[in-house]
Amino acid sequence: MNIKKNRNEKPDLLIVGAGPVGCVIAERAAKIKNWSCLIVEKRNHIAGNCYDEINKKGLRIHKYGPHYMRFKKRKIFDYVSNFTKWIKGNYIVKSSVKGELYPIPINLDTIEKFFNKKFKSSKEAKNFINTLKIRKKKIKNSEDFILSKLGKDIYENFYKNYTIKQWGIHPKNLNKSVVGRLPIRFNRDPYYVNQKLKVMPKKGYAHLFKNMIKNKKIKVLLNTSYEKIKNNISPSIATIYTGPPDVFFNYKYGKLNWRSLDFKFKTLKKNKIQECVQINFPNENKFTRKVEIKHVTKQKSKYSTISYEFPKSKGDPYYPVNNKKNSILFKKYKKLIKKMENKNIYFEGRLASYRYLNMDEVIECALNLFNKLKKKYK
Ligand code: FAD
Ligand code: UDP
Repeated sequence: MNIKKNRNEKPDLLIVGAGPVGCVIAERAAKIKNWSCLIVEKRNHIAGNCYDEINKKGLRIHKYGPHYMRFKKRKIFDYVSNFTKWIKGNYIVKSSVKGELYPIPINLDTIEKFFNKKFKSSKEAKNFINTLKIRKKKIKNSEDFILSKLGKDIYENFYKNYTIKQWGIHPKNLNKSVVGRLPIRFNRDPYYVNQKLKVMPKKGYAHLFKNMIKNKKIKVLLNTSYEKIKNNISPSIATIYTGPPDVFFNYKYGKLNWRSLDFKFKTLKKNKIQECVQINFPNENKFTRKVEIKHVTKQKSKYSTISYEFPKSKGDPYYPVNNKKNSILFKKYKKLIKKMENKNIYFEGRLASYRYLNMDEVIECALNLFNKLKKKYK
């Protein structure tokens, strides 16, 4: 669509970003309120960081890192199920430490193998780990968190260097919630996530989100940044912005830090390359993890693709950096964000709210925002 020709474009909603949040808001607004929605997306595809595509060998790859869908709440699962069929998502991750593979999250098998012990019960393992814990009066950061739960040996072999590589920051200087994302288990549950509802969209994420925005009231402009069109398109109801807040406010208070990744893909003529979908490398190599997504897409092929993730500080914003500096800075932006609601501009999503959110969580946020808009603009 040519922007100049559409100077007078007046959708009810202008939505910035065709990621999960943008697609959910558009779907609800078009279906429930019959509002016309224009989504502008600076990339050449929809689905945000969940985007997947088929490569030259016919294999589905996750372009921006592995996306393991899981749902904390059944009602969010039910909503997304309107747009896709599912296959099971039994994600298994291992960590390579001193040449051996160990289950991640840390579980009873990891503890037994690493310490070369056998425990008759979870309780026995807990008692053993209790002798290793380093007690802290106050858990101030990611280092304190793991030392106080698992002790020094596990911290140093499984967490410390992975975290330094992933964030370019020592765990002492990261909020405890960063490493706290991973469960710690004293049972033999081998799966990466705790949720029972763990599923993969049968035909992938791009297909799911394409289905979601099929409504005729929804238009999408790809390869179009908000900055390029904001003076030409004014929505009659509201703007939903899902990009980074510092960019929106032209870095008024300075830059928020984001962590980014380089993905290197390699396809081999092999049914399977590694024993599970993800292998983490805390201590060796420049990459953090190797992902063979075929383990969870369950495609049948003579080929398989593996991706290597190299963390970096510049590039597309993937992870908000949860430390003191950014939390102070974001609080300042948050005040501006709140004020923008008076101008009918709303911020939502992982980038816009500068929160380390999973897909089910941002979908829930988007549904909540839609309910708020629905009540406000009748
Ligand atoms: P995004 O998906 O980031 O979409 C925002 C869109 O807005 C982007 O397409 C962007 O190009 C566009 N945009 C931004 N600014 C502008 C602008 N100015 N103009 C036009 N367009 C703009 N979640 C899980 O549940 N499970 C996982 O296993 C998982 N793994 C992940 C692995 C990685 C490496 C990453 C980075 C994230 C992972 N996530 C995972 C999180 C998941 O990607 C996010 O929760 C989800 O994509 C957030 O949706 P969103 O709509 O808020 O933002
Ligand atoms: N982490 C770690 N070792 C691992 C896996 C994770 O130290 O083997 C830490 C690391 O700081 C990481 C955080 O836990 O950034 C969260 O891990 P998760 O696997 O949830 O990261 P994501 O999939 O979001 O990149």
